[in-house]
Amino acid sequence: MSVQHADGAGLMTQRARCAWAAVIVAAALAMIAAAFVVPFKFESPSMYYKFGVDKLLLRAGKLVGLTAALLLFFQLPLAGRLNALDRVFSLPALYRVHRFAAYAIAMLALIHPALVFVPDDMYMIPFQARYWPEWVGAGLLGLILCQVVFSRFRRVFSIRYHRWLWIHRPAGVAVVAALAVHVLYVSETFQSDGPPRTAVLLLAGGWVLLWIWVRLQSSGGRRRLCTVSSVAAAGKDAYAVDLALSGPRSFVYAPGQFAFFSFHSMRISKEAHPFTLSSTPTRSGALQITVRCCGDWTDRIGALEQGDSVYLQGPFGKFTHLIDAPGRQIVMIAGGIGITPMLSMLRYMRDTQDPRPVTLIWSNRAEEHLFCRQELDEMQEKLTRFAWIPTFTRRKAGFGRFGRVDRPLLDRLLEDTPRSAAVYVCGPPEMIREISAAARDLGFSAGSIKQEAFGL
Ligand SMILES: Cc1cc2nc3c(=O)[nH]c(=O)nc-3n(C[C@H](O)[C@H](O)[C@H](O)COP(=O)(O)OP(=O)(O)OC[C@H]3O[C@@H](n4cnc5c(N)ncnc54)[C@H](O)[C@@H]3O)c2cc1C
Repeated sequence: MSVQHADGAGLMTQRARCAWAAVIVAAALAMIAAAFVVPFKFESPSMYYKFGVDKLLLRAGKLVGLTAALLLFFQLPLAGRLNALDRVFSLPALYRVHRFAAYAIAMLALIHPALVFVPDDMYMIPFQARYWPEWVGAGLLGLILCQVVFSRFRRVFSIRYHRWLWIHRPAGVAVVAALAVHVLYVSETFQSDGPPRTAVLLLAGGWVLLWIWVRLQSSGGRRRLCTVSSVAAAGKDAYAVDLALSGPRSFVYAPGQFAFFSFHSMRISKEAHPFTLSSTPTRSGALQITVRCCGDWTDRIGALEQGDSVYLQGPFGKFTHLIDAPGRQIVMIAGGIGITPMLSMLRYMRDTQDPRPVTLIWSNRAEEHLFCRQELDEMQEKLTRFAWIPTFTRRKAGFGRFGRVDRPLLDRLLEDTPRSAAVYVCGPPEMIREISAAARDLGFSAGSIKQEAFGL
């Protein structure tokens, strides 16, 4: 056993992450700034006969349109599961930005036509052949709005996640194709040869190459193959799935990280789902995920059989104690199946005989949802500075605490914990929000509270 298993997982120091984040954000802002130069330095003839407010509005419209176009261009790297970006920002954070950027794009795409048409007193695109690029723009706006509305209100329309994803991805390609056509043909700035047209063609080419790379990563040979070695119940409505790696290559990950798993079995569909590895990288070759049955796909996880193939893409995320200073005291707060990254970290600490003080608070509805109880008790004996406290929200048990993990309970349980400790919180998004707010109230700094929500 050696800690070097996790070193290759690409974890960066806080300083390196901040430096890379600054470089990447600066590069994105530089691209937007360069786009802002276009309506000034490469004026289209439509600008020549506009003066005063009209000219201002038209220019603003172009700037708004170009900003929306660049944000659209960034959507693929944000959601493309790129390891390089995950190392710096972590995938869940990138997905959050992807969602936020989508709302910004929709807003800008709605404002853009208003600003460019008003100076021409145009309130409707004429039905004439020469206005076809504007009509492509109108179709593009419709597509963008559909993407945002169906993503935001997927549940209202009763669309299952994988069906939504099945449409969302090709629709994203259609959006970018329509955008390229619209930009290249709607304004003379981009129609004639020159830096703006070259820049658009380069960006479009780069986007296509990136798209091919992303598809190859998620469906091709870059994924690791495993086989299911066992499936066992892990408390009520959850299963621990043990996996054995096939082939000579190892799978390098840090405790607490997650990967996308795609099972090739007669009993479950192939779509990839994200799960945290509950195993520890100190036991190489043997991987484990622990899955709570909570939907149409996870409900079938117990039907998996020994020998079923699994492809995995990853690892992703930075929800791991390895990015903290060695020896820093840790508080772990898990809701239900949110225990999986904590289990991985604790198993790693046990195997590496990590002496730091750790307190685990694990909230469940009732006793029957607990699993690994004996293992946690043994850890408590072995790691003398580790303590775990089970809590139950629905039914009292003969041990642990009863009630929600809220500010008063945390206040009591963490009375003696120094406020310099790192706090790891994982579970349902609502619980994470509440607990993080309570921890901040109790004096833990926002920067030392690390969160992992089980929803992308
Ligand atoms: C970083 C991360 C780590 C996770 N770790 C664990 C874990 O260790 N154990 C565990 O039980 N669960 C874990 N989950 C949650 C797990 O991925 C979902 O519960 C599961 O995908 C639900 O699938 P479903 O079709 O059964 O349920 P549904 O009811 O169809 O989906 C429920 C929700 O799960 C998410 N989801 C569903 N399918 C996908 C998909 N293909 N890709 C991404 N998200 C999807 C969506 O937010 C959806 O709204 C994790 C999620 C994330 C994001």
